[in-house]
Amino acid sequence: MTAIVGGADILTALLSLVSEAQPSTSRLKSSTIVNMPDRRFDVVVIGGGIVGLSAAMRFASAYPQLRLLLVEKEESVGRHQSGHNSGVIHSGIYYKPGSLKARLCVEGAAAMIEFCGEHGIPYQICGKVIAATSDEEVPRLHSLLERGRANGLTGLRLLDRAELREIEPHCGGVAWLLVPGTGITDYAKVCEKYAELINAQGGTVQTSTEVTAIAERASETVIETNRGSVSTHFVINCAGLHSDRVSRMAGVTPGVKIVPFRGEYYDLVPERRHLVRSLIYPVPDLRFPFLGVHFTRRIGGDVDAGPNAVLAFKREGYRKTDINLRDVFETFAYPGFWKMAAQYWRSGAAEMYRSFRKSAFVKALQTLVPEVRASDLIADGSGVRAQALRPDGSLVDDFQFECTRTMLHVWNVPSPAATASLSIAREIVQMAAQGFGLERD
Ligand SMILES: Cc1cc2nc3c(=O)[nH]c(=O)nc-3n(C[C@H](O)[C@H](O)[C@H](O)COP(=O)(O)OP(=O)(O)OC[C@H]3O[C@@H](n4cnc5c(N)ncnc54)[C@H](O)[C@@H]3O)c2cc1C
Repeated sequence: MTAIVGGADILTALLSLVSEAQPSTSRLKSSTIVNMPDRRFDVVVIGGGIVGLSAAMRFASAYPQLRLLLVEKEESVGRHQSGHNSGVIHSGIYYKPGSLKARLCVEGAAAMIEFCGEHGIPYQICGKVIAATSDEEVPRLHSLLERGRANGLTGLRLLDRAELREIEPHCGGVAWLLVPGTGITDYAKVCEKYAELINAQGGTVQTSTEVTAIAERASETVIETNRGSVSTHFVINCAGLHSDRVSRMAGVTPGVKIVPFRGEYYDLVPERRHLVRSLIYPVPDLRFPFLGVHFTRRIGGDVDAGPNAVLAFKREGYRKTDINLRDVFETFAYPGFWKMAAQYWRSGAAEMYRSFRKSAFVKALQTLVPEVRASDLIADGSGVRAQALRPDGSLVDDFQFECTRTMLHVWNVPSPAATASLSIAREIVQMAAQGFGLERD
C-alpha cells in the first residue's frame, strides 16, 4: 500500500516545514499552532483504519463544505486491525437482536457488497457452514438459527448429512446450519478505496502523522502531532487499539480500557485447500465476543485456519514475543482485567496453550474438519483485536461510542466492524451532526 496524501497537498508542505518527529508530549506548544487557514479544519478524524476512513468518507460526501482531515500514524492506511483480519463479510447471525451490532452488520453487509461491486473490489458471496461438533451444541445451533431469523437474515437452513456433503464434503460434526449470505473480500483494498474517495471529495488523508496531544479550547480544539499542530472544531476519535488513550489525551476518561487480544492464523498448504470450499465455523460461545477457531477461504484462494484469541502484551504486537511494558502495565493495573481473568481464566489458559502447542490448535480444527493434519498447516501471521473491557471485568459486547460537544469517541468496534463500516460511518456522522449541531448546506 502506498501513502495517500491528497486534497490540501499544501498541508504536507507546511507540515514538513515544522520540526521533524517531535517527541510525545502531553502539553501543547502554542508556537507550532499557526493561524493559517490551511492548518485549520472543521473536522479531524484520528485513525486511518476502516472505521475512521469510512466516517471521513461519509463526512466528505454529506458535508462537502467542511474542511476535513484524517490523520494516521502509519505510512499507509489500514495497517492494523483493518488490514489484519479474516476478510469475512459477516451476515449478522451472531448478534443480539436489537443491538447496534445486529442492525449495523446486516445493513453494513449489504452496503459493503454494493460498494465492492461498484468500485471493482473483489468479493464473493460464498456462504458459511456453522457446525455443531457435539450433541450438546445442537440446541445452541438452533438458537443461532432463531437469532439469525430475528435479525432479518433470509435463506438460513439446517442441513442434513447428504446436503452437507454437497456443500462442504470434508466438514465433520453432528448438525449444520447454512448461512448463504456470508461473503469474503479484501478489507485492505476497501480501506485504500475509502481513502481515495475522501481525497476525491476534497478531504485530506495525512499518513505518517501521529496525534500526541489534544487540547480543547473555548472556540477550537488543537491537535498536536509529530508533524506539527492543527486546529479544528470537531474531532472524531477512531484510533482503534489506542482509542482510550486518545480520549485521555483530550481529557475524557473512557469508562473502559482497551485490552489487546491477538488472533493467530495458520494457512492450509495449497495441496490441502480442497478440504474447505468456503467458510466452516464452530458454534460460538456467545458469552465471548470471539467466534472460536474456524476455516476461512480468502478472496485470493488460500485458506486460513484461526484466529484464536490470546491476551497480547503489546497493543500492536503481532508476534508472541512482542512486549510493551506500558501496555502490559496498563492491562495488569486495571481492576477490570483481574475480574475478567478470575471469571474466564480457564478458557484464557486453554487459548494460551493452543497458541504455544500446534497440536492443540490442530485438535480444535479437527473437530470441524477431521482430515486436517498438523503437516497441512503453516503459521501465517496474526491480527490484534481492540476489545473494550469495563471496570467490573465484563467485555463490552456491542459497538460503543461517546459524543461530547466537540468530540466523538469510538471505543468499541470489534468484529464485525469491517463488514459494518459503512453503516457505522452513517451512525457516527448522524451522532456527530446532532451532538455538534452541524447543519447541511
Ligand atoms: C484477527 C481479526 C479478525 C477479524 N476478522 C473480521 C472479519 O472477518 N470481518 C469483520 O467484519 N471484522 C473483522 N475483524 C474486526 C475488524 O477488522 C475491526 O473491527 C476493524 O478493522 C476496526 O477498525 P478500526 O478503524 O476501528 O481500527 P484499526 O484498523 O485498528 O484503525 C485504527 C487506526 O488508528 C491509528 N492510530 C492509533 N492511534 C493513533 C494516533 N495517536 N494518531 C494517529 N493515528 C492513530 C492506527 O495506526 C490505526 O491505523 C477482525 C479483527 C481482527 C483483529
